[in-house]
Order: sequence, then C-alpha cells, then structure tokens
Amino acid sequence: MIKAKAVISNGKGKFELTTVNIGKPGIGEVRVKIKASGICHTDWDSIQHWDKTFIVGHEGAGIVESIGEGVSDLAIGDKVILNWAIPCGKCFQCHEGNLHICEQNSPVCGCELAGHAHVESTIHNKAPIERSFHLGTMCEYAVVKAEAAIKIHSQIPYTAASIVGCGVMTGGVLWLTLPKLALEVAFVLLAVVAWV
Ligand SMILES: [Zn+2]
Ligand SMILES: [Zn+2]
Repeated sequence: MIKAKAVISNGKGKFELTTVNIGKPGIGEVRVKIKASGICHTDWDSIQHWDKTFIVGHEGAGIVESIGEGVSDLAIGDKVILNWAIPCGKCFQCHEGNLHICEQNSPVCGCELAGHAHVESTIHNKAPIERSFHLGTMCEYAVVKAEAAIKIHSQIPYTAASIVGCGVMTGGVLWLTLPKLALEVAFVLLAVVAWV
C-alpha cells in the first residue's frame, strides 16, 4: 500500500483533503499516478446528493505507475487518459449499440462495481472506499481496469487530456477552445468507444 492525498466527500455537501492508502493493481488492472483532474457538473451534483462517502473526480490523466497481471497493452510510464465508459460488449444494451448505458459497467445507469477495478484497492479509515465513476481522479493515485486507461500522445498536456474522459466525451465543452491535438485524441477515443 502507498499513501496518497485524496479529496473525499460525504455526499451531503461537504468534502475534505485527506489521506488514503492505495494497493497494488490486481489482474487486468493498472495503477495510475494522476497528473491532472477535470471538474464537471456531476462532481458538484455528487458532492451535494450522492449521500455516501467517496473519492471525488471522474475525469483525469496521468502516468501508468504499475501494472497488474495479464496487462499487455500498457506499460509503466505510459501517458493515459482515464475513461469511465468501458462497455462489456456482451449485455443487451451493448448489443443494441447503447454502449454508454452498458448494464454491467456504466456508472451512468447506477450499476454496481462489476467490470471495474477491485474496490479494496483503495482504503480509507481501514475500509474500502468507493470512487466517483470507479475512478476517483481527485487522488494522487487510482487503480483502474486496463480498459479504463487510454494511452495518449506524449505531447498532449495533462490538463487538456484530463477533460477528454467526460467533459469532451459527453459534449460539455466548447470544442473550438481545445488544442488541435486534444481534438484528435477526442475523436480517436470516440472511435475506440464506438468500435468496442
Ligand atoms: Zn454491456
Ligand atoms: Zn463528468
């Protein structure tokens, strides 16, 4: 376990900067050192209304710090965007093409933890703590499924890359304000999500 600073909310309007413990990535998982985290309206909403304790943040970018067993398409040092939309490809909604509301993995439909990194990877007050959209990007480290870490071009600034995982993907930003490279990444990411 390593110690990491994290923003934790009680889901009742309050949040604090505190310390959590982060474990090693499990099978098919990676541990990412977060370099930048975006904020979107859902963060505000979750802090106000989720009514449970969790690590805030669901869009971020960083570096793969360690990899778990069975991960072959990512390496330590890879620069990545975190992506909460990792459809299973097998359920009814995935077959219908509704990848954003995958019955197994989509946080949008309030699904449970199936398909995401093991919740015991992140410990607060000696107990596992949930993370926003199974990511919790407002933390120095995040253990995520390898499929949730999308490798990106090394020249893209972390700050621009961090918002692609939600703000750009869900259309919440003005496209014209983004650097050309970030736009290219957005299109690639959308293409990947559409193809899976
Ligand atoms: Zn699915
Ligand atoms: Zn969002």
